[in-house]
Amino acid sequence: MDSSFASRIQTLVPEGAYEAMAKAQQLEAVGRDIIHLEIGQPDFETFAHIASAGVQAITDGHTRYTPSSGLTDLKQAIAAYTAARVGQTYTADQVVVGPGAKPLLFFPMMALLEEGDEVIYPDPGFPSYRAIIETMGAQPIPAPLVEANQFSFDMDAFMASVNERTRLVIINAPSNPTGGILEPVDLEKIAAAAHKYNFWVLSDEIYSRLAYTSDAVPSICSLPGMQARTILVDGFSKTYAMTGWRLGFGLMPESLADKVGLLLTHSVGCTAGFTQMAGIEALQGPQQQVDEVRSIYLKRRDMMVDGLNQITGVHCLKPLGAFYAFPNVSALGRPVEDLADYLLNRAGVAVLPGTAFGEHGEGFLRLCYATSTANITEALDRIRLALNEL
Ligand code: PMP
Repeated sequence: MDSSFASRIQTLVPEGAYEAMAKAQQLEAVGRDIIHLEIGQPDFETFAHIASAGVQAITDGHTRYTPSSGLTDLKQAIAAYTAARVGQTYTADQVVVGPGAKPLLFFPMMALLEEGDEVIYPDPGFPSYRAIIETMGAQPIPAPLVEANQFSFDMDAFMASVNERTRLVIINAPSNPTGGILEPVDLEKIAAAAHKYNFWVLSDEIYSRLAYTSDAVPSICSLPGMQARTILVDGFSKTYAMTGWRLGFGLMPESLADKVGLLLTHSVGCTAGFTQMAGIEALQGPQQQVDEVRSIYLKRRDMMVDGLNQITGVHCLKPLGAFYAFPNVSALGRPVEDLADYLLNRAGVAVLPGTAFGEHGEGFLRLCYATSTANITEALDRIRLALNEL
């Protein structure tokens, strides 16, 4: 252990997607043609009316500090948008805006967690959850997501890990990396446990507008008494193709929002004002592009999943949301990290091993289908050929 660094960051490792992209780029630098299915971001440009609003805001001089937790107009727009989506009332004082959704994972956890507190989080799950829990000196308790349950929790295992030391439970639906959605009945069990053991819930709903189900994705916030103990995290990156703008938000009880606002004051200061102005346009402007893009992702999903299911040794559930396929490749009998390296080197297709999302990701690969149908067809051909040669 390197004693010159604080113990709280000793376990930090890079996010798998960034590592895989660096490996792929090294091969591209020596002339290899690589299809990128590793990074999870929309391949569309930010919708034009939103980008114009951001540019206009710069021209109009919105280039100075804003209040730390966000412009009031944006916070009001977020409160109204979320209230309509989840069917609860929210006020602007319960909203905190940050540079991306990630700070709304990081700072609420910093505000809530004491050393040794237990935090239950989904495994396989977004890697920042565990990284942040450990950075806060809290105890990470992985809760397996199970393919046989359509990638919901194994609720027996989940309930067995809840106890008086549980301070926070993190849920994420639609999920990165599985695309799974939590059933209302499971949300009710989690809510009942939250009341019984008095823990907080952090509900990462960043993919809520990218769901392929006929019903809206259920939010735990709409269950009785849950708004008072839930941090709802959402953002603009995925819904409006704005990953590089850095704009996200969280809704939480006002007292916690005040503390998170202070942490923003003393860290990032605030989020860029012109980015926030673009966010107002995103929420209040026309929404049909969100629907159009979702139906494009849906076609790509079906193409990707159908193609994967035709490859010997691979089977893949249809994800209900987000833009990731999470095929089971355990029948191939190789560790998935080796398989991901093999597909990169042999087939020129960059994918992520399921283990980049936790130990319960063994046996799975994650392929992002936010790319053209031509890329998906070519990637499937290459993957099939390479795996047949194993
Ligand atoms: N939560 C999940 C589940 C994600 O997949 C991501 C982005 N990959 C984030 C949060 C972070 O989003 P942002 O870019 O807005 O910080």
